[in-house]
Amino acid sequence: MRDNGRVSLYRDDGIVLRTQKLGEADRIVTVLTRRNGRVRAVGKGVRRTKSRFGARLEPFTHVDLLLYTGRSLDVITQAETVRAYGEPLAVDYPRYTSGTAMLETAERFTPIEKEPLIRQFLLLVGGLRALGEGAHDPRLVLDAYLLRTLAVAGYAPALDECAVCGTPDSVSPEGRPPAPLSRGTTPGAPGPRDRWLGGDTPSARPASPADAPQGLLSPMTVRTTGERIAERFVTAIALGQFVPGQRLPTERELAAMLSVSRATVREAIARLAEAGYVTVRRGRSGGTFVTDGWGPDSDEMIRRTLGGEWHEVELLLDFRQVIEQQIARTAAVRRTGTDVKAIQAALADYERAGADRDSSRMADLALHRAIADATHNPHLTSLSLSIRHDISFGFEAEPYSPEVRGRALHQHPVLAQAVIDGNPGQAAALAAEHFSLTESMLRELHARVMLRAGTPPGTPQE
Ligand SMILES: [Zn+2]
Repeated sequence: MRDNGRVSLYRDDGIVLRTQKLGEADRIVTVLTRRNGRVRAVGKGVRRTKSRFGARLEPFTHVDLLLYTGRSLDVITQAETVRAYGEPLAVDYPRYTSGTAMLETAERFTPIEKEPLIRQFLLLVGGLRALGEGAHDPRLVLDAYLLRTLAVAGYAPALDECAVCGTPDSVSPEGRPPAPLSRGTTPGAPGPRDRWLGGDTPSARPASPADAPQGLLSPMTVRTTGERIAERFVTAIALGQFVPGQRLPTERELAAMLSVSRATVREAIARLAEAGYVTVRRGRSGGTFVTDGWGPDSDEMIRRTLGGEWHEVELLLDFRQVIEQQIARTAAVRRTGTDVKAIQAALADYERAGADRDSSRMADLALHRAIADATHNPHLTSLSLSIRHDISFGFEAEPYSPEVRGRALHQHPVLAQAVIDGNPGQAAALAAEHFSLTESMLRELHARVMLRAGTPPGTPQE
């Protein structure tokens, strides 16, 4: 027994992240556990060939463990395999490297030992399972995993300014801003430039845009933030997120929506006014109004927005399809009488909104929110809202046209009814169809500006 005569035993399950040799026959095993966060523990004698459980303590393996608390490291006394996620990966190099990146990421994002981080654990299990099943491109699985992990850890991609110095648009010699992440970069915490996204450190920076990592967090453009925001506006106008005659949100609202400074918003508005897309009226009924849907430079501005970010847009569209189908399915199973009332009220509001762009947008948001709320899981609601935010380039408005509204008018009632009737399969299928409206508008606009520029869609843009 231990020196102090007391042994504290505990049981937990987790994914083995890493192993290191210790002495002659032992190993230190790093495990991301379900209840105890990241644990480093000693597996005694596990490197001996006759070890009872040595082979189970390999990276990627989901193990059920019995441990006792040691003075510095805990000690593993039993290990049972729950699932060996490594097996299907061992024979497939792209899947193996994506899996390795996930394990490294999980370790970096659980900086404090024994701090319970159930969401990180669940994300890792989900990611490894998806990799093992092989239904998706391993890079998509990895990107989706990274996106969620970063969000859970409090990071978000910084697309508008340097996350290190806060300067908008710091241009590196290769023409790429240096830091892809913002928020949560506390000393000692995993840094923004860690190598898990393909050697993206200052010294290993890709030499040309063609070699650039295509991950979710790769920096995008070299223009000033105000310029980029102006380009996003023009794209949003082309997608009907704003229509001629409409008053834009206030400078303060836009700054909050787009997570940029008010000065940046002002710069963007000035550019738009100069190019004739908006007019600024002073006085009580003043504001910034959209005047024109399509200026001489529209194509170029849209191409910069969509072309440079198209890979991200594709990932986001795919992510949204997966999530929204799951939300509709879950809502159909869990909806209560209160949910049904909220869904019906939002449905009626959407029909009443008529051609009024803003009322229509608010009612659409309320309807999809009511469906997400019917899952009774706030994580799903906030995920749905954050994807909506991202897919609209931060403007909080779905792409819109009278034709899209016409189709939504037919789709909303049947989607709502499938949820209300408790028909999960149908609800998921209808959600997939409905959310493809936004997708087809984005795809169509992208294809149009690419073709007009003589660039087939799919050619990398910079
Ligand atoms: Zn809708």
